Amino acid sequence: MNEVNETKGPYDYDLIVIGGGSGGLAASKEAAKYGKKVLVLDYVTPTPVGTTWGLGGTCVNVGCIPKKLMHQAAILHQSLQDARKYGWTFDEKVHHNWTTMKEAIQSYIGSLNWGYRVSLRENAVTYVNAYGEFVGLHKIKATNKKGKETFYTAETFIIATGERPRYLGVPGDKEHCITSDDLFSLPYCPGKTLVVGASYVALECAGFLAGLGLDVTVMVRSILLRGFDQQMANQVGDYLESHGVKIIRQFVPSKIEQIEPGTPGKLKVTAQSTDSSETMEEEYNTVLLAVGRDASTKNIGLAKVGVKINEKSGKIPVDDSEQTNVPYIYAIGDILEGKLQLTPVAIQAGRLLAGRLYGGSTVKCNYVNVPTTVFTPLEYGACGYSEENALERYGAENVEVYHSYFWPLEWTVPSRDNNKCYAKVICNKQDQNRVIGFHVLGPNAGEITQGFGAAMKCGMTKEQLDSTIGIHPVCAEIFTTLSVTKQSGANVQQSGC
Ligand SMILES: Cc1cc2nc3c(=O)[nH]c(=O)nc-3n(C[C@H](O)[C@H](O)[C@H](O)COP(=O)(O)OP(=O)(O)OC[C@H]3O[C@@H](n4cnc5c(N)ncnc54)[C@H](O)[C@@H]3O)c2cc1C
Repeated sequence: MNEVNETKGPYDYDLIVIGGGSGGLAASKEAAKYGKKVLVLDYVTPTPVGTTWGLGGTCVNVGCIPKKLMHQAAILHQSLQDARKYGWTFDEKVHHNWTTMKEAIQSYIGSLNWGYRVSLRENAVTYVNAYGEFVGLHKIKATNKKGKETFYTAETFIIATGERPRYLGVPGDKEHCITSDDLFSLPYCPGKTLVVGASYVALECAGFLAGLGLDVTVMVRSILLRGFDQQMANQVGDYLESHGVKIIRQFVPSKIEQIEPGTPGKLKVTAQSTDSSETMEEEYNTVLLAVGRDASTKNIGLAKVGVKINEKSGKIPVDDSEQTNVPYIYAIGDILEGKLQLTPVAIQAGRLLAGRLYGGSTVKCNYVNVPTTVFTPLEYGACGYSEENALERYGAENVEVYHSYFWPLEWTVPSRDNNKCYAKVICNKQDQNRVIGFHVLGPNAGEITQGFGAAMKCGMTKEQLDSTIGIHPVCAEIFTTLSVTKQSGANVQQSGC
């Protein structure tokens, strides 16, 4: 039988990686460094409105990179306003040109796509722009854009196919709505926009669109930023609202109709309350869905080779070596069940996996205390436990929370947003007051959180944090002087205007 022979080899490749995103590229290049013969397949299935992109996966093309650059475009708008207070004078009217921004960002992304191709070539990794699907043991079918099918075999496989945005499943969603997969290369300014969802993707997109001067509404079914510390999440939401984003709570769209075609056109959204029979209707130019993402695991032939997935979520369960239930098939990145969905996590897991497979390493990916940041207008950086999870895990009597508001010096002269930035550390009293949760709301929260993430990896205690001398005047110094516990109920608001 054909399939039995395929279990014995010889194979075309030592390793085939399905998916050329953050995880897949890292794993394939690392494996090639050990002299292995490696093939990477990467293929982008176009979105319902036809958007597609180049090599590199979600982060580079439709994730971290374009969103941080659009966030920066919005920050510049705020900086322009602050600049006047610092003595700069310029014409009263300030315009933003979407197409100029979009083209500049897309051109940078183009250079990254090219860079990835070059780096695969330099590392002697074979890259094929085709869709991979298991068709037998150790064997895949690769289908390219023109429908041409090629078959390849390998001793080992890594699945790194990532996720794609979910649609609502209501009339008009796929026909008339866009997702983050379309937004960053949208050829026209989206205009008045409804963002549906409360994920970090939803709030980040709402934040930068509003920051660019657009009329933005977020429609939220239940809570903001599920999975994150809810006190921080609500402060992120409050800041969005105080900076012009409207939030409609406990409503979900039930129908999207086109009233006028165009770029952008006009859409009518009908929405239904989640806790009453109330409905509402409103017109928007663009509806951006950010209601979650589904693992790209359903159409890649996993059943053919016996890889188990969580049927509900589509996620792949793996052991602590990223091995699936089929020993020669591994999985990394966003498709993993119960792991963090972040680019550096996928890269780390991919690189370490290749090192273990081919370099004699035993180092496993450590998914604990991974720092992360939400790039909303008020950035939110976090590492470790949320307050609610810490209380649940250790009990209120064993947890001490230190906190304070702070006012970035740079914001004092423009006299804006006092008592919006906030710092919080959560300590485990049973373990030398070790810091088990770190949370910051403020400018450059990601830059702040990165360093404290390293300190938490080293097991930082509150005493060590207190003995650290601050850098003055920066926002992060607040963490070296946190003395008020939440339990004390003392006022942590900063005085001043
Ligand atoms: C809007 C947005 C913002 C984000 N911002 C951040 C951020 O600020 N920081 C951060 O760390 N993370 C961020 N992320 C998450 C980050 O992008 C992902 O965690 C990361 O890209 C996961 O890498 P991956 O290798 O698992 O998958 P991906 O990078 O998604 O790569 C998977 C690749 O496989 C391809 N593929 C799928 N199926 C097949 C197939 N059958 N055959 C061939 N190829 C296939 C896909 O087209 C894709 O190119 C963001 C995500 C989004 C959507």
